Amino acid sequence: MKKDQLLTRRRALLAGAAAAGAAGTAGVLAAGRGHGPARPAAPAAGAQAQSPLKPSAYRLQPLTGYGTPGTGPRRPAVRSEPILRMSGRGRTMMLTFDDGPDPHYTPEILDTLAEYDVHATFFVCGEMAGYYKDLLSRMADEGHVVGNHTWSHPLLTKLSRSRVRAEMESTCEIVEKTYGEPPRWFRAPYGAWNRAVFQLGAELGMEPLAWTVDSLDWTTPGTATIVDRVEDGAAPGVVVLSHDAGGDRSQTVRALRTYLPQLLDSGYHLTVPRRQQV
Ligand code: ZN
Repeated sequence: MKKDQLLTRRRALLAGAAAAGAAGTAGVLAAGRGHGPARPAAPAAGAQAQSPLKPSAYRLQPLTGYGTPGTGPRRPAVRSEPILRMSGRGRTMMLTFDDGPDPHYTPEILDTLAEYDVHATFFVCGEMAGYYKDLLSRMADEGHVVGNHTWSHPLLTKLSRSRVRAEMESTCEIVEKTYGEPPRWFRAPYGAWNRAVFQLGAELGMEPLAWTVDSLDWTTPGTATIVDRVEDGAAPGVVVLSHDAGGDRSQTVRALRTYLPQLLDSGYHLTVPRRQQV
């Protein structure tokens, strides 16, 4: 199928998924609203340097529904709910950016994070990662965490188990190739989780990470509104959801420049997830 046909098909799928999300999809455990990554017009060739990940020392706090204990670092426990917030002492928060990387907005976000020496987590789509490999290399070089957000951002609760696996697995592969190690965290598009998603994620060595505070930046509510949502939601353990792709994210970029220094001034430590000790 030609790429433009793919794009058209995906837009139709995303529109359907957004409608399903708004209506309350069965099996959805964490609230997430419809949005999707924009498809880039042209792939960019990128460098592929690799470097090890150095996550900071914070644990994530499970909610309920732990399954049997995990058997090792590549096989986390199968959960029945995603992780929504972090545990840990002090004023610690996590910033997460979904749907990228994007050649315009992601570098601007990375520049701001670098300016304040802050690490964040990027839940990338495999297809985008394939277009912009250099951005995943940069994330690795600068100490950010890259998570798996599926290959093409489908509503997983509507897919067969084999298609869910393919979406996850192909993204694990390209992240490992371009970032330097496989992703340890997974986030379902639209926050649509079900048993198959938890099981397959665990089989692929990933923990399900949702969010505590949704900036709703994808609705482009205005930079000040995004800033207010993040600052009003700020609290120890909070995981913030924003997007670095999928549309015009200039408000997201500008909001980060405002709330990041303010959170730091308020004594918050912005960090990245570390695999729970099981
Ligand atoms: Zn998404």
